Amino acid sequence: MKYCSSCGSDQIEFNIPKEDNLPRYCCHHCGMIHYQNPNIVAGCLLTFKGQILLCRRAIEPRYGCWTIPAGFMENHETLEQAAKRETWEEAKAVVNELMLYAIVSIPAISQVYVLFKAELAQAIYAAGSESLEVQLFEPKAIPWDELAFPVIIRCLDYYLKDRATGKFQTHIDTIYPSSQTVIHH
Ligand SMILES: [Zn+2]
Repeated sequence: MKYCSSCGSDQIEFNIPKEDNLPRYCCHHCGMIHYQNPNIVAGCLLTFKGQILLCRRAIEPRYGCWTIPAGFMENHETLEQAAKRETWEEAKAVVNELMLYAIVSIPAISQVYVLFKAELAQAIYAAGSESLEVQLFEPKAIPWDELAFPVIIRCLDYYLKDRATGKFQTHIDTIYPSSQTVIHH
């Protein structure tokens, strides 16, 4: 941060304010402390008769890799609205009932993924502007080596394991930089 977004001054220093314990961007002109907090990514694992909907990314990072519809939550929306909006923007699919399926913290990049699970009423979907293509995959056809992010691998892994036992539950998990992603399928 070079300039204060409140007063425009360049008298910004990154230091620990009084009675705080972490460094913040502090403006010495107007006194504003600029707190920075994790971003929430909301998304949907969509299924249709046992198949899983994946989108091939038309944007960086990980252009050309497969993911589930997910993206940064906007101000003033709810988690469910964010998940449904991303599903519409990236996969042109409409979902109604959402089940909270996974909360995955990624502390190294200050992100928290909140992923819902939903069954499509019909196989109606299309590539939105951020997707090259959208496709339903049978579990055996999931392109594991071309998935965009470790959290996507983790989420599909939960789904296949839950599917095998028939019990779908909410997963709370953390991804560390050193986490090994082990696939058992
Ligand atoms: Zn200022």
